[in-house]
Amino acid sequence: SVVEEKVYRSPIICILGHVDTGKTSLLDKIRHTNVQGGEARGITQQIGASFIPVENIKEQTKAFAEKVKMEFKLPGLLLIDTPGHESFNNLRSRGSGLCDFAILVIDIMHGLEAQTIESINLLRMRKTPFIVALNKVDRIYDWKPCVNTEFKEAIKLQSRAAAQEFDSKVKETIAALAGQELNAELYWRNKDIKNYVSLVPTSAHTGEGISDLMLVVMQLMQKRMIEKVVFTEQLQCTLLEVKVIEGYGTTIDVILVNGSLNEGDKIVVSGFNGPIETTIRSLLTPPPLRESRIKSQYIQLKSIRAAMGVKIVAPGLEKAVPGTSLYVVNDDDDIEKIKADAKKEVDNVLNDIDTSGVGVSVQASTLGSLEAFLSFLKKIKVPVGNVAIGPVHKKNIMSAAIMKDKDPKYAILLAFDVKIEESAQQTANDMKITIMSEDTIYLFEQRLKDHFGAIK
Ligand code: GDP
Ligand code: MG
Repeated sequence: SVVEEKVYRSPIICILGHVDTGKTSLLDKIRHTNVQGGEARGITQQIGASFIPVENIKEQTKAFAEKVKMEFKLPGLLLIDTPGHESFNNLRSRGSGLCDFAILVIDIMHGLEAQTIESINLLRMRKTPFIVALNKVDRIYDWKPCVNTEFKEAIKLQSRAAAQEFDSKVKETIAALAGQELNAELYWRNKDIKNYVSLVPTSAHTGEGISDLMLVVMQLMQKRMIEKVVFTEQLQCTLLEVKVIEGYGTTIDVILVNGSLNEGDKIVVSGFNGPIETTIRSLLTPPPLRESRIKSQYIQLKSIRAAMGVKIVAPGLEKAVPGTSLYVVNDDDDIEKIKADAKKEVDNVLNDIDTSGVGVSVQASTLGSLEAFLSFLKKIKVPVGNVAIGPVHKKNIMSAAIMKDKDPKYAILLAFDVKIEESAQQTANDMKITIMSEDTIYLFEQRLKDHFGAIK
């Protein structure tokens, strides 16, 4: 009998952490690390993601991989391109994370910062396994740069003072993480990957530890999570963004996590006014990096397989809700059932609050960020009266104003990472409704404490 070989898809990797810790720089470094002076071979830019093929990773980590006798089973890694909370929040599916794995970036010179802790909480909420990149090791006093070197080799070449400073920074970080109830250990000392988070020291500038980072991610995926990345035809696809593109109209950027998509597929996506039924007109991706002959912004694909980031052109997508799932309707599927599922996904988040009572009004950019924000408000015990997704309009202010009669301290609108229409701001001024607007959850924390503390 023939043993059927399992086919794996690329794991989806998200990078998050405090601002300025080097998330974007690390992503750039991973994408552009020169392979023996050559080019970043095989790496492709996709919609919202970068694909790093396993051949490239093998080459980047060659000496190191041989030492640890690494066998590569996965086709590569799909790195999400806009590192941060937003993309992480959107990579959700009915409350759980669609990111298979995350890299939490900590600046080794700064240790834990506000958004580091926020990131840890997000990772917990979505149950996403992760490792820590302890970035900016090149900033350690007297550090001797060892360009693109395996970290354990680089540390051997450092002065006593530099090595000592490194040790003490690592100890401080481990202690701070313990304060967040996280066990952590430098990856080469970590003998218990199930209960301890691995720390990988890196420099996005000089490249120390980048090969370690790639290899550790690969190893962990293969050792602990390989079943999660078996390719199946069961579609799993998340809508990241809704964008108007000249010449194409309203398009949606999606991450295809599992399964495949074809031109002409009938699809269902969640809309602000109920489920949207439409047909894929085209699947678009940026042209390959080196193909300078191709002058157009996008190339069209007839069909794609997971995991991949792609732009979908289809009619009627104007009201699509970012952060929700995309469904394909096959001939023998019950479309009404699929539409009901799509609706339920949005309703589950919107209805998770007691709108009969009194509470603040909340508005967020996507379903995923709304969900994370509501969970935060629950934690700090701020009741919620209204919720909405998308820019703040006049009507949202009117809804918030209803609270004035019920309990004036809740006549406030929390705008999480959304635009506020001018007319809405005007109405808010006229009606004396406070709009509290921030781009990150942690910035809300103090303001809410001040607000409710002062009123109590
Ligand atoms: P992000 O906000 O987390 O995306 O951080 P960026 O990638 O934008 O980096 C913030 C700043 O730190 C920039 O000035 C980077 O050049 C710098 N930076 C990032 N990584 C490193 C590193 O490994 N070493 C040093 N010395 N600077 C870094
Ligand atoms: Mg950045």
